[in-house]
Amino acid sequence: MSGILVFCKECGKQVPSSETRDGRCLDCQVRKSVADLRDEHARLWRKRERYRTSQANVGQIARQIARVEDRMGQRIKELVPNERQAVDYLKRELEAARGQRYTIKGV
Ligand SMILES: [Zn+2]
Repeated sequence: MSGILVFCKECGKQVPSSETRDGRCLDCQVRKSVADLRDEHARLWRKRERYRTSQANVGQIARQIARVEDRMGQRIKELVPNERQAVDYLKRELEAARGQRYTIKGV
């Protein structure tokens, strides 16, 4: 397995050129493609925390969150043909989205 290694212009990681698009590695492509959905996810997640006392609202927000997660999965699948790899990417993005609320709260 040899290929030309290039530096991703976004994160600087060295990756096979076959995995890059517009000079970006697959990680950065995925991150960029779901960035808006991740923000949306973080917003809903925070909203759900605020409404925790009201069951009706929580159910509705949970459905919205599930829809956003589905859309993230679809976008990742378009970029990552390997299904297992796509699932890993989705997991990572979801963890990042859920973790965002802490970083935002601290600002
Ligand atoms: Zn990168």
